[in-house]
Formats: sequence, structure tokens, C-alpha cells
Amino acid sequence: MLSTLRQSNPKIFNLLMQERQLQSESIRLIPSENYASRAVMEATGSWMTNKYSEGYPGKRYYEGQQVTDQIETLAIETAKKVFGADHANVQPYSGSVANFAAYTAFIEPGDTIMGLALPYGGHLTHGWKVSVTGRFFRSVQYELDPVTGRLDYNRIEDLAKQNKPKIIVSGATAYPRIIDFKAFSDIAQRVGAIHICDMAHIAGLIAGGAHPSPVPHADAVTTTTHKSLRGPRGSMILCRQQHAAAVDKAVFPGMQGGPHMHTISGIAVALAEASTPEFAEYAGQIVKNAKRLAQKLLEYGFTLVSGGTENHLILIDLRNKKMLGKKLSQALDRAGLVSNYNTIPNDPAKPFNPSGLRIGTPAVTTRGMKESQMDQIAEFINRVTNHVEDETVIGKVRQEVVEFCRAFPLPDTFVRPIV
Ligand SMILES: *Cc1c(COP(=O)(O)O)cnc(C)c1O
Repeated sequence: MLSTLRQSNPKIFNLLMQERQLQSESIRLIPSENYASRAVMEATGSWMTNKYSEGYPGKRYYEGQQVTDQIETLAIETAKKVFGADHANVQPYSGSVANFAAYTAFIEPGDTIMGLALPYGGHLTHGWKVSVTGRFFRSVQYELDPVTGRLDYNRIEDLAKQNKPKIIVSGATAYPRIIDFKAFSDIAQRVGAIHICDMAHIAGLIAGGAHPSPVPHADAVTTTTHKSLRGPRGSMILCRQQHAAAVDKAVFPGMQGGPHMHTISGIAVALAEASTPEFAEYAGQIVKNAKRLAQKLLEYGFTLVSGGTENHLILIDLRNKKMLGKKLSQALDRAGLVSNYNTIPNDPAKPFNPSGLRIGTPAVTTRGMKESQMDQIAEFINRVTNHVEDETVIGKVRQEVVEFCRAFPLPDTFVRPIV
């Protein structure tokens, strides 16, 4: 496959090889990123790119669906099994689209939704004002307790009682603690709202039994497939049987045209991988790694939002280091540690240069790193933080990172680049 690409478009081939090298020689700490397996990538880059299959298995608007129907059915059935869901829709193009589609399955424009505010770790599509979800719906946003950095279910309930949302969204993109999904469902029930959980970040942990599942509690659950779940870039909506027709209709024809069957093929492969004991071990190790990394960072004098982590993610509050997130994330990137700057609860700084740094352990865990490697990563982070403007130190760390990464090859087992 790549040798053909190399001949037909050497420019793109070379850029892809550069990206692969970058991924291979750096420590990826962005908690939403991961490395899909070679099998997932092969399924995703297949003949299914050539298909149009609007509709659902058995109810298509195009002929020639002898194989697509089987693949989509396999993806659906495996999703239901992995997550214990009544129904699965595997067609949404991405997590953002899945969220908007899920909302439209239940409410009308102008109705009220309630989600976690973006600066407190919510996603844009949980009703933030610049997102279509904040413009087409009336949006009420809950925040975290500014002292504990945690969800305060009593305050969320008070806000829900005042505002009577039709949908309450649980889930986050930057929250290091276990979320009590039952508490959200209880609140939703008391105010007559639908509870939609967006488990995008933690789907892999849930599939592997390393985080409680929202599926028994929420009316519908949205997720991406490419984060801790380690599939191709895509999305799914799981729901109770009573909502199946509404959800399917909201995705197609409500939101999208033809499903991306190549992605759905990759999702089917990823979900089969997620059903294995190895995957459960990976999910457990993600949390062990995050806890160890958090502990080491605390020992180095870093402040962590909520004091630590119970999942895959750590949010560093840099205020005691007298530094903003962008400066550190850029210095870390030069040293080969890839992270992202992030707001912290009640952030006194501006969102485009906030006071926090967000890191996570799914990608490094996929590469086979364990607790002792977390100690080394914490040491790298600490050294760069203490020498954020010293390019000699940063260059030295960069060399050490390349060496360190060599022992943990990417899971894609690509043959060496042909150069
Ligand atoms: C990543 C993420 C999304 C969006 O997914 P895309 O595929 O980037 O559109 C939605 N919700 C949460 C919680 C996320 O973390």
C-alpha cells in the first residue's frame, strides 16, 4: 500500500513517513490521542472508501450492499456486546456530529440543554456558546466546585431545578475523576430531562472495565471511537431500545448522508480488539500509569486539579510554577513530549493561554509503557519545567526521549520506510 503511494505521490508519502517518525520518536501525552492497531488502519484504508450506503443494514437507498450490511451489522452487534447496550448506531462521522445528532433525537431548536462548561472541562458540543449546540439550543452550563475541582452534584441539581433542561449532558474532555453517572440520571429523572452521557475520552476504560459504565444509567451515550477506545476516527451512539428509532432517524437522514463504511469497518475491528482480555489489561494499565504519573508529579511539587486522577488524565495547575500552559506545552513539544495547554477550574488566565496543562496515558500505555516509564516521563516533564527557556537542557531531553522511545515501537508494525 505505501509503496504504491510512494510512487504515485512521493510528497504525501514523505510527509506521512515524517508524521510516523514524529509519532514514534515522541512521547504522546495528549489524552485524546492514541495509536490504532495496524489491523484497524488496514480496515479503515480499504475498498470500503468506494461505497455509498445511505440507510441502515437491510434498509438501504442503494443497491450493492451485500458486504456493507454484514460489516455494519458486525460493528453494531460488537458495540452492543462490548458496552452492554440495547442499541448502537455506528454512523456518526465524529463525536461532535454524534452529540448534535443525539440532541436532535430528543429536543427541538430553542429547547434547553445543560452541560459542563468548556473552561471546566466540558466539550464545545456540550452547549458552549461558540458551538452550534450553544446557538441552536438554550444552553445552561454547570461548573466544577472551584475548591475541590470536582463535580458538585447538589449544585448541578439546583441548576437543573431552576432551568428545567430537556437534556442533561454528563461527560467531559478534561476531568480527571470518576463521574457518577447514576447521580446524573437521578437528577435528570427528578427534573424530567433526558440524560445523555458523552463518554468519548473514557470509552476505552469503560470497555476494559477500568471505569464505571454510563450505559445502564443514561438514556443515550455518545462516544468517539479513536481516543482510549483505540479505533479509527469515528463515533457511535448507544441507547435504550425505546430511543433506537429516534436516534437512528436523527443521524440519518436527520444529520448526515452516506455513512463512512471504511471507518465503520475499522470500528468493527477496534471493537473486536476491545473485547479481548489484553484490552482489559491495557485499560487497567492506563489508570495505573496515570496514577503513578500523578504521584510522581506531586512529588516534584506540581499542583494537580482535584489533587490527582482516577482515570487516564491529569490536569496540572501551573500557577505555583509561575508559568502559563502554552509556554510549557511548547517547551515540552520541543523536548519531544506532546501535551496540550488547558484551562483549569476558575482559571484567572485567558482561554488561549490558560494556567493548565492536560496530559494523559492512553497512547503511552498502548506502546507498552508501565509504571517505571511513568517515573521517567515525570522526570522529563519536571526537568523541562525547571528549564523552560534553556534550549540546551531541552535539546538534551529531546535526545533522551528519542532513545527512551526506541524500546517501545509503535503498534502498527509498518515495514521500515523506503527511502
Ligand atoms: C473529543 C470529544 C468530542 C468530539 O469528537 P470529535 O471526533 O473531535 O468531533 C466530543 N466530546 C468529548 C467529550 C470529546 O472528548
